Parts: sequence; structure tokens; C-alpha cells
Amino acid sequence: MSDDAATGIENLSQETRTFSPPTEFVQNAVARPAIYEEAERDHLAFWRSRASLLSWETPFTETLDWSNPPFARWFADGTLNVAYNCVDRHVESGHGEQVALLAEYEDGSDATFTYADVKDEISKMANVLADLGVKTGDRVAIYMPMIPEAVFAMLACARIGAPHSVVFGGFSAEALRSRIEDAEARVVITADGQNRRGKQLPLKPAVDDALAGGGKSVEKVLVVRRTGGDVEWTEGRDVWWHEARESASAEHAPVAVEAEHPLFILYTSGTTGKPKGIIHTTGGYLTQAAYTHRNVFDLKPSSDVFWCTADVGWVTGHTYVVYGPMANRSTQVIYEGTPDFPHQGRWWEIIEKHKVSLFYSSPTAIRSAMKWGEDIPAKYDLSSLRLLGSVGEAINPEAWMWYRRVIGGDRCPIVDTWWQTETGSIMISPLPGITDTKPGSAQVALPGISADVVNDAGKSVANGEGGYLVLDQPWPGMLRGIWGDPERFKETYWSRFEGLYFAGDGAKRDDDGDIWLLGRVDDVMNVSGHRLSTMEIESALVSHDWVAEAAVVGANDETTGQSPVAFVILRGGNDEELAEAGGDEKISELLRAHVGKEIGPIAKPKKVLLVTELPKTRSGKIMRRLLRDVAENRQVGDTQTLADASVMDLIQEGLSGKS
Ligand code: ATP
Ligand code: MG
Repeated sequence: MSDDAATGIENLSQETRTFSPPTEFVQNAVARPAIYEEAERDHLAFWRSRASLLSWETPFTETLDWSNPPFARWFADGTLNVAYNCVDRHVESGHGEQVALLAEYEDGSDATFTYADVKDEISKMANVLADLGVKTGDRVAIYMPMIPEAVFAMLACARIGAPHSVVFGGFSAEALRSRIEDAEARVVITADGQNRRGKQLPLKPAVDDALAGGGKSVEKVLVVRRTGGDVEWTEGRDVWWHEARESASAEHAPVAVEAEHPLFILYTSGTTGKPKGIIHTTGGYLTQAAYTHRNVFDLKPSSDVFWCTADVGWVTGHTYVVYGPMANRSTQVIYEGTPDFPHQGRWWEIIEKHKVSLFYSSPTAIRSAMKWGEDIPAKYDLSSLRLLGSVGEAINPEAWMWYRRVIGGDRCPIVDTWWQTETGSIMISPLPGITDTKPGSAQVALPGISADVVNDAGKSVANGEGGYLVLDQPWPGMLRGIWGDPERFKETYWSRFEGLYFAGDGAKRDDDGDIWLLGRVDDVMNVSGHRLSTMEIESALVSHDWVAEAAVVGANDETTGQSPVAFVILRGGNDEELAEAGGDEKISELLRAHVGKEIGPIAKPKKVLLVTELPKTRSGKIMRRLLRDVAENRQVGDTQTLADASVMDLIQEGLSGKS
């Protein structure tokens, strides 16, 4: 521990395991070590050269304008069209017959779309949208299930240069309405319903409700038929996609827009509070999306099958389902359903069926799979996999090891990728053919990206110390602001440290200088003057064989200021051992002792509470602020973005009667 804890965050845990990439992987890797030197030598020349991954209608002459920070302009005098880059040019270069999308539906049926098919579909949809009055610059809200038409909708908007605002299909009418109004969307693209766990859930009624209560800017609603059955219809406003498609032309000239033309607005996940409407633009965003996708995932377009499990409602679905993979001419899986329907092996079955080689998912999904047990993935042939990725939260070292062994067969490099809605693309990650990976660490800024860990005074911390993660150089995919609120943009990200972008996350550097994410700084607790992050205590808990998932929060404490309180979900399959331990209280005591032993007495939770669920956002991230309310016996705060509102009741009921 550092002597002066108040200047940063404690560094509690040590991890000594490392894994070198397999020789064959190194020999064939897309990214070679020289790429770091190239970026180091000349930051702007590096990005200029990456921009040639794209096809420009008008080449740019200016790389970066940073004269008015924090408002960056990249490649500003160039023009291009994103849909052309993601689809048409692949058809023109003779790859029209390559499969773009392997659509897997919840019921096990499937469909394939080649790049030529996608070109036709998005051209038709762009023509239909134009008929509905959508012009370059108009906003379009997209509220869809995870089906190919969601991808078509995004690319059709990009084709016209109409910024989209995708709203996750699980959000309420109220959340949809506020996002429609914030963006003043002119058209909404939706579906009649969606398949969820064998049931057909309506989607269009939420659009009707949203527009009944407001959303006055909306003139037309384009409806994709997915589930069939009756839907309420507003004549003159609602249009069926399958009907409009019939007569729509498959010829549509993509509109070349300026590099700084907005491509989309997207709201953050809402883990820490009210979601922010983040703006991304065209040329810089697509450059970084294509570059990171190609290098971090080691993409070989002609042989790989890529699968990113994120919904298009999140930034991961924007950058690593739609824009990065398609700009790079990937063949990829897109899956409508959930990981555990109709059975808990569904994802592994899909990997076997489509011979997925590159798989990108989240810690929450991996921990669920751990909870369900490793005999489930063991039933499937996962030998097609050659690389695994993780994003969304810090991955606990034991979850990383499980992912590597059980899913990756001890053979696949793992890329733990740190980034945010705001950063647009991956920022910190190992490169799979170069970096010796460490379980639980995102490790190094990508070539072209500059990140640092600083203390309260904004000074770089030494190796072995913790602090705040910042970005100290502009990057092409960076957010250009918060929609309609430039002041909030400056205040939220640029006011904490002079001249630095502050991401809101705690981090540390280990003895090699590698970066480890420590969780949100809002969640840091102060225990007897020591500033402790949530992540390391959680990882210590998950390192116990009995534990699948843990969330730690700081609760007020009369003697120490704050003390850690842990909420723990146990793994399945240990019934005998747990019975032998002698009840919940004994189990809690053993887990407290385990943390004390792993990382020291200061971090030992005052309480370990055994629960069956944790509150999560709809994107699967733990919402610790709600648990802090529980731990401090307060009224639970804003639960708007909570995936399942009953979880908080469940936790509170389960705890009443326990101390
Ligand atoms: P809000 O900003 O509304 O609270 P959010 O931060 O959850 O929501 P996202 O942009 O979806 O919204 O998530 C970005 C955050 O996710 C990062 O700031 C970080 O806290 C976390 N994160 C993402 N990837 C990683 C990773 N590989 N390791 C650690 N943390 C990660
Ligand atoms: Mg955030």
C-alpha cells in the first residue's frame, strides 16, 4: 500500500500469471510489434495512415484540428459515406457473394445475407426512408430486436446521412419517448414485436405509447414484421416495411457527407446515473472502429467468423456488430435471443453451428456461464474459436481464467478491452499476437491512443500505484459532445483535470506499468483513510471456488468512516461443501476470512450477504449505487435503467431477518 493513500486509490492485489500468444498466432497476426513504434513516432501520421482503411469520396488534407478543445475535428475536409464503406465497396471489389450476416433466430431457424443482399436491403430501406421524408441531417430513432433489419436500419440511415438514435428494445415507452424528444427524431423504425424466451413480446405498442404522450417531431413509423399478429395501426403515420419494400428500388446513391457530420447519437448505459446522449461523427469514428476491430480481433476477413454478443442498443453493438466488422468485410453471427433459452448451452451451440472463430462478450455473461457450470459448454465443439474478447466491466482474474480454459480450450488469446460509449471504440487492450496477457488486466493503450493513470493532483502515478484513468491526447473516435448540451460535455469529462479527458474510472499501474481497471471512482470507499476500489475485493471473493459473482460497496461506519459490504452469488454444484460449512452465517464468515487472507485485513468486508441476484443495467453491468442504498438502509435510488425491477425487492426481502 502507498504511504499517502489520499492521493489515489490503493493497489491491493497482485497477479503473477501471464500467457504468451501461441507461436502460430504470432506468426500470422495482423498487428506486429512495429505498430507501437509507428504510432509513437508520429501520432498524426499514424492516424492519417489508418484512415486509408476507408474509401473517401473526397480525400482529406487536414488530419486533426484541436484548436478549440475539447471539440476535436478529425479529417474535417474529407467526405465519405459510411454505408458505402461498410457494404458497397465490398460488392464492387468482387466480394458480393461473401456472407455478411449469419442471422440466428431464437427458435433455432437461421438466414444468411451476403454483402450483395445487404446492399439491396439497405438501398431499398434508404429509398423508403427518403419517401417518408427523411433527409440528410434528420434524426431517426431505431427501436428494434436483434435481427438483421436492425442492422439494415442503421446502415440505411448512414446511407442518407441521417443520424440514428438506437434505443434498446427492452427499454420502456417512457425511455423511448425521452430519447425521441431529445433528438427530435422525424421517423421511428421499429418492429411489431420480438421473441423473448419462447414468448412474443409486443414492441410497437411502446412506440404508440411514446408518441401518444409526446414525441411530436415524429411524422412516420416504419414497422418491420417479426412476430406477426394484430397491431394497432395509425393510418397516415405507420408504414409496414414489407409492403414498402415491395416497390422500393434497390438502387440508391449513398450521400457523401463531411467527416464531421454526425453519424449517431447514443445514450450511455446509465450505470452511474442519468444516461448521456453521446454524439459520434463519421470519418474519425469509422477509422478507429475499423482499425481497432481489425487489429484487436486479428480479423482475417476471408476466413474468420466473428461474433459479438452485444445488442445494437449499446455502443458495443454499434462499433463491433455494425460499423467495425462491416467496414472490414467480416462474416459475422447476429443472434436474436438470450444465452439461456431454450437451454443454458445456447451460445456454445451457436459457436459450434456457425464455426465462430472470434468471440466477443462480457464479464457478466461469463460469470453467468460459470454459475451454470462448465459441464454445459463441455457438450459443444468449440474448437473453431481462436480468440476471445471481453468488454463492459473489469473481468475478475478467476472469470478470465475460466473463460480461457473452459471456452478457449487454453489455446485462445483473450483481449480484455476497455472503452466507453464516449470513446467510440476500444482504447486499452492487449494486441493478441504481441502482448503477454494477464488475467484481469486491459494492460496497454492501443497504438495511437494515449492513456495515463493520475493522482488527485493530475500527476502520473508510479508503477504499483492506483489513481484515475485519463486520456491525454485526442483520438479519432472520441465523442464530439453531448447532444444539445455542450456545457454538460465540458463539465462531465473535462473539468476534473486540466486538459485531460477523465473517464470516471479508477485504475492502477502494476510493476510492469500495465493498466488495471478498478471500477468507478463513484464507488471508491474510504476505510480508515484508505481509498479502496470495489474491483479488487470483488475479485478476491470470486477467486473462492464457491463464488460466481460479487458486488462490493462502501457503507457508512461509525469507527472507520466507511466499511466494505459484499453481496455474493454462489456457484452451482457445491451443495455438499456448502452444507458442511454449516449455514449462511458460517459461509459468510469463511468468505470474509478469505478476503482478509487474499488482500489484507483492511479490505475484509464487514458483512458478506448471500443473494441470488444482483441489480444490473440492461447491458448487464452491476449497479452498485443501488446496493449502497440497501447497505445503508436508505430508500433505493433511480432504477430507470435497471434490467429487472424486482431484483431490489428480492435482495431486500432476502436480507430482512439476516444481519
Ligand atoms: P453511465 O456512463 O451512464 O453511468 P456506463 O458507464 O455503464 O453508463 P458504457 O459507456 O456502456 O456506460 O460503459 C463504459 C464503462 O464500462 C467504462 O467507463 C467502464 O467503467 C466499464 N468498462 C468497459 N469495459 C471495461 C473493461 N474492459 N474493464 C473495466 N471496465 C470496463
Ligand atoms: Mg459511463
